Parts: sequence; structure tokens; C-alpha cells
Amino acid sequence: MWKRQREDKSVLTEPRCPFCRALFERPHEIVTDLGFFTGGMCDCGAVYGFDPTGKNLGEVFMETLVELCGGDWQRAMSMTRGESYEERVLRYNPRTHRLVPGGTGYAGKTGILLFLKLTGE
Ligand SMILES: [Zn+2]
Repeated sequence: MWKRQREDKSVLTEPRCPFCRALFERPHEIVTDLGFFTGGMCDCGAVYGFDPTGKNLGEVFMETLVELCGGDWQRAMSMTRGESYEERVLRYNPRTHRLVPGGTGYAGKTGILLFLKLTGE
């Protein structure tokens, strides 16, 4: 029983895309029109942005959303959450490249990964 729980937990921490369950790459620096953006893209079309502190989520969100719109700022501004795109927030440890399950708050060394995906794709 204990072993089974451990296994389940290990699956929960695998760095998988919340939309398609594929393993995603470590967030890396991407050059955009706005400057630098730390995140990546999944084969399913989802774009993710990483906030190592969990304190700049607003900024990371905008950068991720613009990237999702192919750098089109105007289009990004017209997007509606839940209609034009879906959002998933994951807790992530960049040192171990594992997700951190559960709602343990923003304390500690874990950052926030914000996944956005256009609906209907
Ligand atoms: Zn995906």
C-alpha cells in the first residue's frame, strides 16, 4: 500500500503537459519582441511560461499569452480566458525538473509554471 502511494506520487511529479500529458522540456530562454521570456512550447500547441519566484505571475502571464498568439500583442489583448484559451497553473522545481503536487503555497524553492493553450486546437 505504501509502495503504491509512493509510485502514484512519483507519477504526479513527472513534468507533463497538463493538456496532453506529454513530457515537456525544461523552461529555457526564448527571445521575443518584448525581450526574454523563460518557458517553452509543447507539441500540442500549449505555451508555458516560468516564474521562478511566483511573484511576477502577471508579467509572465502576459509574455506567455503573447507568445501563444505568435507575438501578436493586439490579438493577445483580445483573448478571453476560458473562451479563447485555457489556463493551467503548475508548481515546478527547476532544479529537479519535477512538478510539485498539492497546494503548499508559494513558499520554498518552487516556481510557478503557467500553461496556456488556445481552445479548439
Ligand atoms: Zn501538450
